[in-house]
Formats: sequence, C-alpha cells, structure tokens
Amino acid sequence: MRAVLAELLVAFLLTMLATLAGWLAAGERGVMILLPGAITFFFLRQLWMVLRLIHWAGCPLGTPTPSASGAWGEVFEALHRRARLASAAREQATQELARFRLAAEALPDGVMILDGHRAIEWMNLHAEACLGLKASVDTGSRITHLLREPEFLEYLDNPDHRGVPLELHTRRNPGRSLQIQAAPFAAGRTLLLVRDVTQLQKLATMRRDFVANVSHELKTPLTVTLGFLETALEGVQDTAPQDIAQYLQIAAEQAQRMQQLIDDLLTLSSLETDSPPPLEDPVEIAGLLADICREVEALSAGQHHITLENKGPRWLLGSARELRSAFANLAGNAVRYTPQGGDILLSWRREGEGGARFSVSDSGIGIAREHLPRLTERFYRVDRGRSRDAGGTGLGLAIVKHVLERHQAALLIESEPGKGSRFSAVFPPHRVQS
Ligand code: ADP
Repeated sequence: MRAVLAELLVAFLLTMLATLAGWLAAGERGVMILLPGAITFFFLRQLWMVLRLIHWAGCPLGTPTPSASGAWGEVFEALHRRARLASAAREQATQELARFRLAAEALPDGVMILDGHRAIEWMNLHAEACLGLKASVDTGSRITHLLREPEFLEYLDNPDHRGVPLELHTRRNPGRSLQIQAAPFAAGRTLLLVRDVTQLQKLATMRRDFVANVSHELKTPLTVTLGFLETALEGVQDTAPQDIAQYLQIAAEQAQRMQQLIDDLLTLSSLETDSPPPLEDPVEIAGLLADICREVEALSAGQHHITLENKGPRWLLGSARELRSAFANLAGNAVRYTPQGGDILLSWRREGEGGARFSVSDSGIGIAREHLPRLTERFYRVDRGRSRDAGGTGLGLAIVKHVLERHQAALLIESEPGKGSRFSAVFPPHRVQS
C-alpha cells in the first residue's frame, strides 16, 4: 500500500512540476524537455503494466503473475494471492467431486444424471451394465434415443409416476428385469436410479412355486387318506374287517408319505439355516458305507446286485448326520430307479491330489440329458408318477446338493437313458484325512 501511495505522490509531484514548467516555459528550455519526457515515461510504464496484466489474464489458470516493483508489484502480488486461493478452492472442489463419483460408483445400484433435455450427463458403471450403455460413447446422447421402450418414455413423460418404480425389460439387456426410479432435481435435471431385480424376481417366483408345490404334495396324500377314512367310517357296520384293514393300511401309507415329505422339508430347512459343518469332526467312512449298504439291501429286498467298493481314505471331515443323509439319498435313488435284477455299485475312492469321491452307479432307467441341470431343484422329477410310486418326495437331490455344498464338495451326474446313471460326490483335499 505504501508503494501505491509513493507512486501517487510521484504522479502528483510530476503534475505539479508540469504546471510549474508551464509558468516557466517562456525562458527555461531545459525544463521544457525534461518534464514531458518524465510524464511520457510514467504513462508508458502504466501502459506496459496494463498490457502485461491483460496478457496474464489470458494465460492458462495457474500461470504465475508477472513480477513488478512498486504499486504494480502490489497489484500483481494481490492477484497472485487470490489466484492461489481460487486454485486451492478449485482443487478441493475437484477432490470432493472425485470422492462423490467414487461413492456413486460404489453404490450397488445404477445411477444416471440427465440434463433438462434428457441427455445423459453422467452414469456409473452399474447403470452402464444394467442398461447396456457405454459412458464413453453414450454420454451427451438423449436417453430417450437409446431406450425406446414405450413404457419407459411414458414413465419419463409423466411426473405422477415418479416415486413409483417402473419395471422394465429392455432390448439393450435382454433377459434381465430392471426397476427404474426417476427423481427430478436442480434445474430440470433428473436422477435415474436403476436396479437389476432379476434375481429377486426369480427368488419370489421360487418361493411361490415352493409353497404351491408343498401344498400340492401334501394335498394328494391327505385327500386319499381322508377318502379312505370316510369310507371306512361310513361302512364300519357292514364292511368286512379285512376291507377296513386295507383302507387303514392305505391311509397309513399316505400318512407315512406326508411324514417323509415333512421330514425332508425340515432337513432342507436346517441345511439352509444351520451353521456349516465343523471341519474338525472326522467321520469314519467304512462304518458309514457299511450302514448305508445294509439300508440299501433292505430297500432292495434282494431285487438288485449290490456291491460295495471301498478304496478311499479312512476319514472325511464334516457332519456324519448330513453325509449319511446325502449318501443314503443317492443310494436309495439307485434302488428306486433301477428295475429288478439291475446292478448297483457303491464306491469310495481317492480323487485327484488328495481328494475323495463317493459314487453310486446303477444300471437303471437313466435320465435324458435335458433333465440333468434341473435334477437338484426342489420337487423336480423326470417322471412325477414314477417318483411318487417309488415313495419319492422330489427333495432328495436338493438335500444332497445342499449337504455337498456345505462340505465344499461337487455333485457330478452322468446318465444315459436305458443304460444307467452315476451320481458322484467329489470332496476337496481339506475335507479328507487318511
Ligand atoms: P425323488 O424323491 O423324486 O427321487 P430326487 O430329488 O431324489 O427326488 O430325484 C429327482 C429326480 O431325479 C427323480 O424324480 C428321478 O426322476 C431322477 N433320479 C434321481 N436319481 C435317479 C437315478 N439313480 N436314476 C434315474 N433317475 C434318477
């Protein structure tokens, strides 16, 4: 500030001198030459500094201010300070924006910002993936040119819909169900939230199907049981005791079927909710296989040739109860789906580098290739009637799959219609102990 005052003082003195020079102009020639020169120098300097200032203002942000002495030095210094403050504020804003973008990228849902003309200003990776778009190509394009489904256009046009999400199936991402929600915000912009609800919808459908299946599975034996009990009750006076006994026998079989179904459902439910089987519990496989072999022989009642082959490791780490249930299910299926006189082989052997494999091979009816991927779904049966006649609940392989998953084991199914099947449970090395 002092320099500015000094410069003003100099200017003032020069002006005074110029005035005085006017008085003396008549005789003093030297003063006549010196004073206009000083005034011209002063104004040329101001002009030069203004030009430097204008040039600096046109340079890229961050260019240092020109250096100068005196009042201009003060001016440039003040400008430099302001530029530094502005740059720090800019840097902070940039960092905040970067943080906001990272946070928006981390959101589990798609986020898109549309401007007042519905052109895409910004979108995160999830929005790109859900809507089949590419930010590098599609930013700046109108969303209505990219997603042309009429229900989407109508949704955007109708502000009353906002707040209620739109279910959308778009050609840009076939096979996926999307939920879209639009929220208007500052200056005509719109925030689009996009969520992929395919999995949720599948789960809801599965839940609905499951309830329908359970009701259906229970209804059939219950209807049969009630029918026979009513008949027996109505005709208790004049029906022969052996007929009544037969009715009760059928009712008891149906009740057993219902009990089996409920047992399987409870097993499935505990497999889904219980904590995973401990790694430390060793299960002695020879004893387990011998028990299962005995059960299978009882179920077969001498109708099949059953062989047990144990060349595998001695111990398996996991839950004895769960492993028994899975192995018994596989072995029981072999009996139920192999006609009289067929062969059944239960085998336990080493697999790969330290793993082990339990497999059940049969020479039974086999399964067509198209059914294989769905066999472990609850209540999925290749032949519903045959499964029921054989006392199946349609839950056996679902239980096997769960048990194996909980032991980090894989279920392999090989089968050929008319020739037989082989179901194998392959255990990883960390579950095996010799
Ligand atoms: P189920 O109680 O009906 O046997 P599972 O879940 O155990 O239910 O099996 C599902 C379906 O897989 C069965 O209905 C049957 O069609 C088929 N299946 C299972 N094991 C065999 C096998 N060893 N041979 C032929 N088909 C089989």
